Amino acid sequence: MPNIVVLGAGVSGLTTAYLLSKDPANKITVLAKHMPGDYDIEYASPWAGANYMPVGKEGSDHARWERETWPYLKEITEKYPEAGIHFRGTLIYNRKKDQESDTGKWFSELTQPNPWYKDVVLDFKPIPSEKLAPGVDNAQEFTSVCINTAIYLPWLVGQCIKNGATFKRAVIKHIADAAGEHHTGGKADLIVNCTGLSAKTLGGVNDSKMHPARGQIVVVRNDPGPMASASGTDDGETEAVYIMTRAAGGGTILGGSYQKHNWDPLPDPNLANRIMKRAIALTPSLVKPGQGIEGLDIVRHGVGLRPLREGGTRIEKDEIDGVKIVHNYGHGGFGYQASFGCSVEAVALVKEALQGSPRAKL
Ligand code: FAD
Repeated sequence: MPNIVVLGAGVSGLTTAYLLSKDPANKITVLAKHMPGDYDIEYASPWAGANYMPVGKEGSDHARWERETWPYLKEITEKYPEAGIHFRGTLIYNRKKDQESDTGKWFSELTQPNPWYKDVVLDFKPIPSEKLAPGVDNAQEFTSVCINTAIYLPWLVGQCIKNGATFKRAVIKHIADAAGEHHTGGKADLIVNCTGLSAKTLGGVNDSKMHPARGQIVVVRNDPGPMASASGTDDGETEAVYIMTRAAGGGTILGGSYQKHNWDPLPDPNLANRIMKRAIALTPSLVKPGQGIEGLDIVRHGVGLRPLREGGTRIEKDEIDGVKIVHNYGHGGFGYQASFGCSVEAVALVKEALQGSPRAKL
């Protein structure tokens, strides 16, 4: 029976551990500095909205991972209401003038009129041009999902535990050291590296292609109805506007920003004002008629760092200091919506890497 350590308990580590744990032959330890319940600038997953708004370019691995993730999220939403995901109407607005901004490029696939994902999400339809506000070049609506991360991440932990996995806190300086942390006391046959942005500084990995895209949010109690997102704002090319109401009383997330190479963990109050004003301009139903930001009932302000990787997400086999590794990190702003697609691929690599390993019976 292979001893496997999954290093990292964000959505990437938990989804990979969940899929691995379905095979009772695998003995799994999930090892992490931060676990669900923690809020920390080194831990991206709790800060995410999180919803499914595909951004991968047509024909890319990224788009494939998003396409392959949808059926899993849909099934969990339908079968397991306790997982904290619900279906939600979604409105997407595109302004051609945003095309060259950081936000416009990030959302370029999402906002185009005839995207690949039109046959993946539910009820996709264009919004007729006569219904568009001035300045909006095209728009569409569909049904997507919104994930309450405060419920979903613990749900994943519960599924892993139910399947026999063990959870352990530790801070690892060099990736090969994780092999000595398996809960059985034996050496791990393989480590799955799901350390997100910390892959930049983790010994043995030190991936210089990793950098943050800072996302600032405001969580409010107001419920505007559908989710909404636009290609950009008039407040600078690293600022964004999106609104999503989480399942099961999780509040509404108002975003945001997409500030590359910005590590600032503290909410900027001026940016928070702009986020709230833009959200109301995009979705007036957030507040009562005539109200401005004073009509918002704030739960908290937050900042998360999206783990972006130049050249794309790293899902590959490796061997470091004689220890077998499978990497699964660098999911930028799409860690949830690509989670199952990426983890299925990582699990296949785990099986490949363990072929021939004395304890592997896969
Ligand atoms: P993380 O969640 O950062 O987890 C890393 C794990 O590794 C942690 O457990 C950490 O403790 C552990 N770790 C790291 N180094 C070590 C070490 N040396 N020793 C021990 N443990 C270690 N995605 C979507 O799909 N949809 C959205 O709507 C969405 N919205 C977002 C909004 C915001 C504001 C932000 C910030 C992100 C958003 N994202 C969204 C992106 C998504 O949150 C990330 O892609 C995802 O959370 C990355 O997960 P991860 O598991 O790879 O990394």
